[in-house]
Amino acid sequence: MADQNNVIVFYDERMLAHEPDIEVPFLPGRMDKRIRSLLSGIGVPWTYPEHPARLTAIKHLLELEPVPGVTFETGKQATRDQLGRVHTNSYLDSIYQLRGENAWLDEDTTAVSPGSVDAAEVAAGTAIAAVQAVVDGRAESSFALVRPPGHHAEPVRARGFCLFNNVAVAAAHAQAELGCERVMIVDWDAHHGNGTQDIFSADPNVLFFDIHRAAPFYPGTGSLAEVGMGLGDGTIVNIPLPADADNAAYLKAFREILVPAAQWFRPDLILVSAGFDPHTHDLALNVSYDGFAAMTGILQSLARQQCGGRLVFVLEGGYNLISLSHGVRSVLQVLTGDEPPEPGLRGLTEVEAALAFHHGAFVTKP
Ligand SMILES: [Zn+2]
Repeated sequence: MADQNNVIVFYDERMLAHEPDIEVPFLPGRMDKRIRSLLSGIGVPWTYPEHPARLTAIKHLLELEPVPGVTFETGKQATRDQLGRVHTNSYLDSIYQLRGENAWLDEDTTAVSPGSVDAAEVAAGTAIAAVQAVVDGRAESSFALVRPPGHHAEPVRARGFCLFNNVAVAAAHAQAELGCERVMIVDWDAHHGNGTQDIFSADPNVLFFDIHRAAPFYPGTGSLAEVGMGLGDGTIVNIPLPADADNAAYLKAFREILVPAAQWFRPDLILVSAGFDPHTHDLALNVSYDGFAAMTGILQSLARQQCGGRLVFVLEGGYNLISLSHGVRSVLQVLTGDEPPEPGLRGLTEVEAALAFHHGAFVTKP
């Protein structure tokens, strides 16, 4: 095993207070009717998939099976000024008015409960804290375990379980306050990060690389042709994949598109919108724990080559609690110093041993 690296994991219980209640009426009334008819067609009890156990499951696994080198810190609440770098004033006003309320924001099931606005402020602030720790040199890499997630949140609206765009808030903070001129954001969540793309599509100093399951899979954006606009033309890179694409597709895209793009861009900091819904258990794509670990290894080498190793993970989706928690753990193992595995090779050593053991046993007589 290589030298052990210190990795700071940010976890804050204030984010558990975001507990949307699906029994609460939708807003506005027309949307309420539409969503209730959709839900009644599912035929099974429906619960809000983005729930507090997503974070506690990860925390419990990391307590049960600690990763040497990982230390925990609590997060911070983002200020209005920090959120205002990527969201409009009118949007922030509309969200702040929901503090203490139950409400539904849009048809993509973005809901709030009385503690949600505070939780969302902590999620964004915790992403900032994770960046701060790395830029300050307290750790080479860090992981912000946050919810609600962020990458679907646009400058002017909440979407897809997301209220504030955590990774975008962190990137904008790094640029504005921490001396990071160019920031690269890698989004490996199964869903396209439409919000992050919207926020930075005209910004030449943010390179956004997003690999995801292609439309019509939610949210329906992220085609090859979306490459940025204006001054940001060429700094958006989308890799849409068919259903069930696996480790090989992800790793080829990382090695042959992401790495050269990063070498061209020369980032001062690399952020990862790390969703664990590409895992097989979430039924959209077919990435394995070894796949997440191998992608982490590529990003770690890239960060060391380009920006002194500065690499910050921000949690996005992942709804199967087993693959979510084990996926996070597989990333942390590589960040702390484990050699990243090459997916597809597990068991081959054992088969070689079995081959040697059975050698000569089944020779067909002439
Ligand atoms: Zn997702």
